Amino acid sequence: MRIGVDIGGTKVSCALVGEDKTILSKVSFDTRGGRPYSEVLRDVADSIYSVLDLAGIGLEEVEAIGLGCPGILDQQKGEVIYSNNIAWENVPLVKTLQTYVPKEIYVDNDANCAALGEYLCGASQGTNSSVTVTLGTGVGGGIILGGRIHSGFNSAANAVGHMVVVSRGVPCTCGRQGCWESYASITALIRMAEEIAAQFPDSLLAEVKRRSGHFNGRNIFDTARQHDEAALKLLDRYYFYVSEGIIDIINVFQPEMIVIGGGISSEGDYLLQPILAHVNKGVYCKQVPLPQLTIAKLNNDAGLLGAAYLKGYQATAVK
Ligand SMILES: [Zn+2]
Repeated sequence: MRIGVDIGGTKVSCALVGEDKTILSKVSFDTRGGRPYSEVLRDVADSIYSVLDLAGIGLEEVEAIGLGCPGILDQQKGEVIYSNNIAWENVPLVKTLQTYVPKEIYVDNDANCAALGEYLCGASQGTNSSVTVTLGTGVGGGIILGGRIHSGFNSAANAVGHMVVVSRGVPCTCGRQGCWESYASITALIRMAEEIAAQFPDSLLAEVKRRSGHFNGRNIFDTARQHDEAALKLLDRYYFYVSEGIIDIINVFQPEMIVIGGGISSEGDYLLQPILAHVNKGVYCKQVPLPQLTIAKLNNDAGLLGAAYLKGYQATAVK
């Protein structure tokens, strides 16, 4: 049995995972970022003991614990180097948690954990190489090569959201301009929706904004499904940008599969088909089979399951 913890900017989830990779018990709590990290980690420890109690299992029956966290992590030292979302810098994650929970503890970036979860139990199961892309508030990525998480020599290899797709485009939080994240995230989709609604004030898209006061992924896609021209124009633009990044990933990695996760992935085929059409036209090498493009299967559980299985699936041997 293993335990996976998914530390997010707003919520922390913890799950006990059985030998058959199913979740046996799960609890979550509000991160309440801004608190000292030791407080958050004490709550993580409490949640670990809660999932054990719920399942009637003792800590000695747990083989390993894994933690997924946004930002850049040092897997070897078990530390968070920097996490923008939780405002953590140089946090000794493993050392601190081990004072409450004396066990082997592994850490990795949350998007890497999600990619590992999809590889072990979800959409990319059975493949040898895959890239899982998360289209959410930002754009995250997790790379699995040869059945292991690919992290680069410095643990920072998965920042697919910061490939530039528009030269000198929209400024990004990383300091560059035109990053994929600034065009393919839900945040970007909403920004483009505001622009197009202003251009077409008589459109249903503009009406939706007036009525509901705000855009979100759901009301934008719903408006497009009603054949509103402004919304369709918006999605055309959005699909183009999403595809640009996916084509770059394919050209560099040629993974067997690209998995699309995150909030927007709930649109399923409505999202996938137009992206596939762009990708088919845009890839560099058309004479070889294309990677499969598919929607993530596990939603929020991907990160938890992946975290639980970090032991043995990181590229570098971690003590
Ligand atoms: Zn960037």
